[in-house]
Amino acid sequence: MNNYDAVIIGAGACGLMCAAQAGLLGKKTLLIERNEKPGAKILISGGGRCNYTNIHTSVDNFVSENSKFLNAVFSQWTVDDTLNFFEQYGGITGQEKTLGQLFPVSNKAKDIVATFSSLLYDTGQDLWLNTEVKQVHKLAEGFEIVVDRGGSSQTIVAKKVVMASGGLPVAKLGASDFALRVAKQFDIHVVPTAAALVPLTITGKDADWYASLAGNSVFARVYNDKIAFEENILFTHWGLSGPAILQISSYWKAGEQFTIDLLPKFKLEDVIKQERNEGGKRTVGQLLNDYFTRKMVEALGKYLPLDIKIASLSKVDAKLIVDVVHRFKVKPAGDKGYDKAEVMRGGVSTEELHAKNLESKKISGLYFGGEAVDITGWLGGYNFQWAWAAGFVIAQDL
Ligand SMILES: Cc1cc2nc3c(=O)[nH]c(=O)nc-3n(C[C@H](O)[C@H](O)[C@H](O)COP(=O)(O)OP(=O)(O)OC[C@H]3O[C@@H](n4cnc5c(N)ncnc54)[C@H](O)[C@@H]3O)c2cc1C
Repeated sequence: MNNYDAVIIGAGACGLMCAAQAGLLGKKTLLIERNEKPGAKILISGGGRCNYTNIHTSVDNFVSENSKFLNAVFSQWTVDDTLNFFEQYGGITGQEKTLGQLFPVSNKAKDIVATFSSLLYDTGQDLWLNTEVKQVHKLAEGFEIVVDRGGSSQTIVAKKVVMASGGLPVAKLGASDFALRVAKQFDIHVVPTAAALVPLTITGKDADWYASLAGNSVFARVYNDKIAFEENILFTHWGLSGPAILQISSYWKAGEQFTIDLLPKFKLEDVIKQERNEGGKRTVGQLLNDYFTRKMVEALGKYLPLDIKIASLSKVDAKLIVDVVHRFKVKPAGDKGYDKAEVMRGGVSTEELHAKNLESKKISGLYFGGEAVDITGWLGGYNFQWAWAAGFVIAQDL
């Protein structure tokens, strides 16, 4: 056996927190990362500013076959713990931007990674970069880990192994299916995966309509029978993006449609009634100009009679306007795939893990945390909060 209490695979959010917390407990870990530097996703997150937690975090902000599983994890590591940790060890103060999203005041994601770099150093943890873990084997006691280090194969033996190698999104940042492969190798159930927090594509007869609006952003309510989000949507040359679309994408499956309320803060029925009471001299287009950009109104003209005066609107046309504006139906063709996704949905089933420490129920000494697990946060710092919490609870058990 080596001297390591554990080998942690993946120096992303979960692996870094796990190694740092283990170090604070006086343990010795080896953190292995295939990239040339740790925390590649942290560094580019939130546009390089890192939305590192969300003050509203609760189990309801996560997609999973069993999000209640998170209660046991979040009772051990809270949002305050995240804030205190980065303040104490990195001198980082958080500032809220919107919807409870917290960023370092410095606006620098690299401050988050630097916090870990110094803690790993101070607590004597080992970090092997440019090293890819190829295989994990169970021994009678502990595990054998086969790595490719600078082109040469090496074998390490460890009592415990932490799978913190993340999910499938963004291959160029180091993403791999390694955690999923190891799970399958040990007959651990994996919930089918899909891209989440991902832009959606539109093809077919409506494609040109969306493309004509490329660059236009609208504050909207996007909803289906499961959930609703009120944030901006963004039209693009290939379909839809923007925060509200990324959010709904985590609750959308191929073949399904969802609805967009393009004017969630107003009730168009009432607006039309009021306009009629005032004489109804303006046209539908002129009325819509009060609420939308000229480009958007022009595009809505594909579906609506823009030139009709409000006074002469038939009941049918009035209903059509309300339906199109408040209940705009969208049936995406697909999504932009893992390389444009912020996270992966699905992953190692929570049924397979002890909620207290994220250890496999089948293979003792094997742990799964972060994006590899079937826990997917909303947009807004929730995914990092889960990754930090997972790293912490695993470290307590190493
Ligand atoms: C563009 C973008 C922006 C984002 N912004 C935010 C944000 O602002 N806030 C938020 O909460 N979330 C954000 N996320 C999501 C967040 O980055 C992830 O949820 C989080 O990084 C997952 O942490 P993790 O430790 O599980 O995995 P990762 O951070 O992906 O770390 C896994 C690590 O394992 C390494 N690895 C994989 N396979 C192997 C192997 N075989 N051997 C060795 N190493 C391996 C990878 O190189 C990687 O470094 C963003 C994601 C993206 C793509």
